[in-house]
Amino acid sequence: MRFNTSLLHAGVTKEANGSTLPPVYQTSAFEQERAADLEKIFENKAPGYCYTRVANPTITAFENRITKLEGGIASVACASGMAALMNTFLNILSSGDELISSASLYGGTIDLFHDLEAFGITTRYVENNNWQQIEDSINEHTRLIFAETIGNPCLDVTDIEKLAEIAHAHDIPLVVDNTTSTAYLIQVLKHGADIVVNSSSKYINGSSNAISGILTDSGKFKWDKNRYPGFADYVKYGPMAFVAKLRNSLFRNMGACLAPVNAYLNIIGLETLGLRMERECSNALGLASWIENNYPDIKVNYPGLCSSKWHEIAKKQLTNGYGAILTIRVGSKEKAFKFIDSLTIPYTLSNIGDTKTLVIHPGSTISLHSTDKQKEDAGVFEDLIRVSVGIEDIDDLKEDFAQAFLNIAD
Ligand SMILES: *Cc1c(COP(=O)(O)O)cnc(C)c1O
Repeated sequence: MRFNTSLLHAGVTKEANGSTLPPVYQTSAFEQERAADLEKIFENKAPGYCYTRVANPTITAFENRITKLEGGIASVACASGMAALMNTFLNILSSGDELISSASLYGGTIDLFHDLEAFGITTRYVENNNWQQIEDSINEHTRLIFAETIGNPCLDVTDIEKLAEIAHAHDIPLVVDNTTSTAYLIQVLKHGADIVVNSSSKYINGSSNAISGILTDSGKFKWDKNRYPGFADYVKYGPMAFVAKLRNSLFRNMGACLAPVNAYLNIIGLETLGLRMERECSNALGLASWIENNYPDIKVNYPGLCSSKWHEIAKKQLTNGYGAILTIRVGSKEKAFKFIDSLTIPYTLSNIGDTKTLVIHPGSTISLHSTDKQKEDAGVFEDLIRVSVGIEDIDDLKEDFAQAFLNIAD
């Protein structure tokens, strides 16, 4: 099946009564006929449901669709993208371990890495795609490598295959946050990533009506119990070791499960992921080229423009488009604020991946807790505005941006 067909039909099982969508199992717990049946479910010796913090049929339906979409073997849906990242990191890392991460990251993830320091987990930041620096940062404690496919808001594009090659040469798993690209632009597991994490609050949901996150395992990484002692009891599950460990321990005990109704909203959103991405990517390319061609004083950053440092990697690796986020630099923070306030169509808020166009000044919001060095590495400048392009008519967006540019002209 091709992309849009698979969104509608892959990983989909027949529902009771001929329902074309999975029902919302809005229940906390599930009864079993006999005490022994419940025992079997608790022991993982029989399939079935006992308690929604552990599993729920509506959530399973969402997980199965994402597993197919990403080309993995199993997924675990969580209460948020941050919860999916946290579950992934803590399922792999223990106190004393180190991870290597691209410095160009979503601000919340930088904050999470800072929080992990209290648990003895150290992050070494590297410049994205700087292979020598990455090799030099690997040591006997390194247990994970992390990057975003398209860094937010730097919009640098990671060469996933090359990074996977380095990680695997050192027996280290590669975890990739694919939120900004989605499987529409790239299936990172097919390019060598071992685990992919999506904040499904964004493009997958599509209409910003629920917070959620999901991780998907390729099942390909071989967890050595000497290097990853936490996996000693789980290597017997073979390719399912990662998800078996997570479901039997951290995931159920940390309690960051997804609400069934949010899984349902994501299932509906997912059906139009391809259509929305197609339109959003084409609008973003249209808007970025139009700004670049008409406003020489404005610096535009978009992986789809030849002027982007990452255009070649993007062209080689991404299919169907270059993403729907672009940034502009307008000269000063005052001008950035004035420009944002002049726009009438976009919403000013901290989100991406909505059907509606969204704008934000990252320096004073999502990167507020970052140090100056972190901001610089993440491509955040005082005069930078991030635009998450929606599905509006492109001419309306251009007209609105044109009057806002006029408003800040000297
Ligand atoms: C939004 C976002 C997250 C966090 O997801 P939430 O659902 O808001 O918790 C993680 N990574 C990236 C790239 C994001 O854009």
